[in-house]
Amino acid sequence: MRILVTGGAGFLGSHLIDRLMAQGHEVVCLDNFYTGTKRNILKWLDNPYFELIRHDITEPIRLEVDQIYHLACPASPIHYQYNPVKTIKTNVIGTMNMLGLAKRVKARFFLASTSEVYGDPDVHPQTEEYRGNVNCIGIRSCYDEGKRVAETLSFDYHRQNGVDIRVVRIFNTYGPRMLENDGRVVSNFIAQALRNEPLTVYGDGSQTRSFCYVSDLVEGFIRLMNSDEIGPMNLGNPGEYTILELAQKIQNMINPGAEIIFKPLPQDDPKQRQPDITRAKTWLGWEPTVPLDRGLELTIQDFRDRIEGNQK
Ligand code: NAD
Ligand code: UDP
Repeated sequence: MRILVTGGAGFLGSHLIDRLMAQGHEVVCLDNFYTGTKRNILKWLDNPYFELIRHDITEPIRLEVDQIYHLACPASPIHYQYNPVKTIKTNVIGTMNMLGLAKRVKARFFLASTSEVYGDPDVHPQTEEYRGNVNCIGIRSCYDEGKRVAETLSFDYHRQNGVDIRVVRIFNTYGPRMLENDGRVVSNFIAQALRNEPLTVYGDGSQTRSFCYVSDLVEGFIRLMNSDEIGPMNLGNPGEYTILELAQKIQNMINPGAEIIFKPLPQDDPKQRQPDITRAKTWLGWEPTVPLDRGLELTIQDFRDRIEGNQK
């Protein structure tokens, strides 16, 4: 198949491309390199079955493809809040452009949505039926309301135009290739500990997140895309940790002498988050297989190579 991956030079997109190329597909990667980098897809650049297009999805594009994995959107709060209006345009106009493309060429369309659609959840763990608790005028809304509209657009193109859609709600995922300055918690703590800087816990660190290793997530993507279910479907690892526990774990793994400091909690930071993955288990027979300790080891090794490599 010829498969388009938007945001393919980013963290998740580049891991997905590795899997799709290994399966023998032809892959078109479309990216504007806002938070993505050519380094992530370097090994495919000379492959005749791989094509890289520098393109911003807020502009329309014409391509012939069979499937579209639509991932383009900055995922880290510091990057999506840097230019919030652009984030909304990417989620709304960009998703509309990609759905328009799917409609025209009759491609199956996969939306990378997010657990952020549940906002600061008052139902725990979160099931797909839960409608969320989102602040529509807060600093996270460019992203979470943007993704909610992206889901609405997907379901309306499905109902109105018969576009074949798949929608996943991704919970915090980590792994090799996250940018050192990505700003998300796992990459921050690892980069800080390796550089002998204090680990910055926001608030008192009692807020929780559930961390999924990237290879598990990509397996779930491919299973849903090639199933008959449309979703929405939660994908994530139900293992839930407080942010302080995560900081201590990474501190112990890298540098037990590293300091942990406390910084102000950003506005609207969700207090708890854990996926209910009954749907993914029942529909796809999917569940995560990589425990947090193992996933962190693999991620730390990758950061060590990059950070210590840079210092040489
Ligand atoms: P990332 O920031 O590493 O990747 C996003 C990619 O999209 C980058 O390569 C970036 O350059 C590209 N991009 C951004 N705006 C674009 C535009 N207008 N046109 C073209 N390309 C553009 O983030 P990621 O972690 O790989 O996330 C990928 C997707 O998964 C995003 O849609 C994100 O919302 C979603 N998601 C990720 C997580 C997670 O924990 N990693 C959780 C929930 C949802
Ligand atoms: N966080 C933190 N220190 C950091 C970065 C993030 O304590 O250096 C916290 C953040 O406030 C949030 C959690 O870690 O409570 C997860 O943050 P991240 O940005 O990774 O993801 P999201 O908030 O979007 O789930």
